[in-house]
Amino acid sequence: MIARPLVTKIKLELRDKSHALIKHGVVPSLKVFLIGNHLPSITYTQNKKKFMDEIGAKCEILHLAEDVKAENLIALITKQAKDSSVHGLFVQLPVPKHLQDIDLKSLIPAEKDVDGFHPKNLINVMSNLNMSETLVACTPKGVMGLLEHYNISLSGKFVVIIGRSMIVGKPLFHLMTNADATVVLCHSKTNNLRDLTRKADIIVCALGKAKFLDESYLGETRPVIIDVGINYDANKKLVGDVDFESIKSKVSAITPVPGGIGPMTIASLAQNLIQAATHLKGIL
Ligand code: NAP
Repeated sequence: MIARPLVTKIKLELRDKSHALIKHGVVPSLKVFLIGNHLPSITYTQNKKKFMDEIGAKCEILHLAEDVKAENLIALITKQAKDSSVHGLFVQLPVPKHLQDIDLKSLIPAEKDVDGFHPKNLINVMSNLNMSETLVACTPKGVMGLLEHYNISLSGKFVVIIGRSMIVGKPLFHLMTNADATVVLCHSKTNNLRDLTRKADIIVCALGKAKFLDESYLGETRPVIIDVGINYDANKKLVGDVDFESIKSKVSAITPVPGGIGPMTIASLAQNLIQAATHLKGIL
């Protein structure tokens, strides 16, 4: 299940929407706070900017020093949050230790929260209400979009998600439950994980452990495998949480790394920006 065909389609749709907004005098604008010199974060933010450029949106990366003071960061975010020409903003994670206690969710208003982490957006996802106005967390949104694109229905399916983070596992649990799947959310303290994965119709790996899921986790169900992981092996090669080669003949579909959920996450961010710009301006 490669992302490219769907990402290309999304890009064309968003380019049209972005041009329509520009005709109404609104240039969709995203501000990204990048703190320090964490190399993967620099690459992620550059990839996000490239996508925004390609759809005709404006994306500015505000690159701050590793030791930026908390009060300065808060002041900068607050300024952008109040600026009516800015439609979306987020802080690229992870942030340095001394900034980890800042409650970003309270600084970025729900309607500009293109990362989908604001409590209002999360509650809508949990309750399956007002979804057309909700900004959904990008990676879970991308997973749902890719499954839909490949006509993989969730209704009645048994799904095992490995990893319970707020950015992937937890929102995805709710989205999949809303789509009528029976979902089990697993984590490092889950006992007998293999007993669950061996029965699963769909397995989502979002734990951040290179090649964790191998054939020992599979039963006779020929599951669909979603690999969210981004890891680097000893040769600095990008690998997922799934041991692709060992399981590829035992599954009915699988997302590759790279080329699977990563590009879908960026496309979802761009969808959220255009949704936010459209909604904030009340046009189209
Ligand atoms: P995270 O916050 O570190 O959470 C990892 C989760 O995995 C935790 O819930 C942890 O359990 C669980 N876990 C760890 N080891 C486990 C084990 N042996 N068995 C079962 N569960 C285990 O990670 P994250 O931010 O969600 O990211 C997960 C992976 O996805 C990373 O590789 C990250 O780079 C990648 N990612 C990719 C994208 C993308 O666009 N493709 C986006 C976001 C993240 P506990 O809660 O018990 O600690």
